[in-house]
Amino acid sequence: MLFADKVAVVTGASRGIGRSIAVHLADHGAAVACVATSLASAEGTAALIQQKGGKAAAFACDVSSAEQVETLAKAIEEQLGTPTILVNNAGITKDVLIMRMKDSDWDDVLAINLKGSFLCIRAFIRGMLKARTGRIINVSSIIGKTGAAGQANYAASKAGIEGLTKSVAKEFGSRNITCNAVAPGFIETDMTKDLPAQTKDAVIANAAISRLGTPEDIAEAVVFLAGPGAGYITGQTLTVDGGLTL
Ligand code: NAD
Repeated sequence: MLFADKVAVVTGASRGIGRSIAVHLADHGAAVACVATSLASAEGTAALIQQKGGKAAAFACDVSSAEQVETLAKAIEEQLGTPTILVNNAGITKDVLIMRMKDSDWDDVLAINLKGSFLCIRAFIRGMLKARTGRIINVSSIIGKTGAAGQANYAASKAGIEGLTKSVAKEFGSRNITCNAVAPGFIETDMTKDLPAQTKDAVIANAAISRLGTPEDIAEAVVFLAGPGAGYITGQTLTVDGGLTL
């Protein structure tokens, strides 16, 4: 059990990549705080973990709200103990070409994807400092490196996450807290389910590994970065894209 006696927080844990990360961390013994915008959806993941004999609790929180994140941190501390693993996975897209992009399309994506990660880091790092150990994993995207037409807001938020990751790594490395990012390629989840078949075929044709990614592919990378084998890795982005961006 890699994470016996450890408490992990996973944001956006109701479905897709976040749910798989929560389940994998729990499979390795962590008590997992499953965080989502609605309590009912977070409870779905917590119930799945409990059915498998793992430890989990559900929490509702909009990660773009500093007040809600502070309340969340207190509630998790009371119910599960001090988290020493934080996975900032909650994220949204609002794809539209720049000429038609509304202020709110930009603000919402940056508020959830980037500011939400900062707010959670600020709220949970206090406990990690006291515990003298911590693992922070931010879910970025290959789009943060490559950019994409129609995704200026999303690409900026994910590029920002990589700068945030390096800064947190430098600020807290001496306190035994690592901070890394995972940059998924094209993963089959609700976020990508409406993309045209042509786009999916192009991904399969262009990736070195000829298939789409699964949430489990990302969860395994997160487990590695959260685990004891990754103690000397910090400030890095691990691309998990089947070789799509090679
Ligand atoms: P998804 O849409 O299936 O799930 C997103 C999760 O984030 C949901 O649980 C949702 O409730 C939660 N969420 C949204 N807004 C929130 C908020 N304000 N507060 C708290 N939780 C909120 O998406 P996914 O594909 O599982 O994506 C998860 C992460 O992986 C995101 O950060 C996404 O940008 C990233 N990513 C996904 C892909 C892909 O191909 N699916 C590729 C690269 C990166």
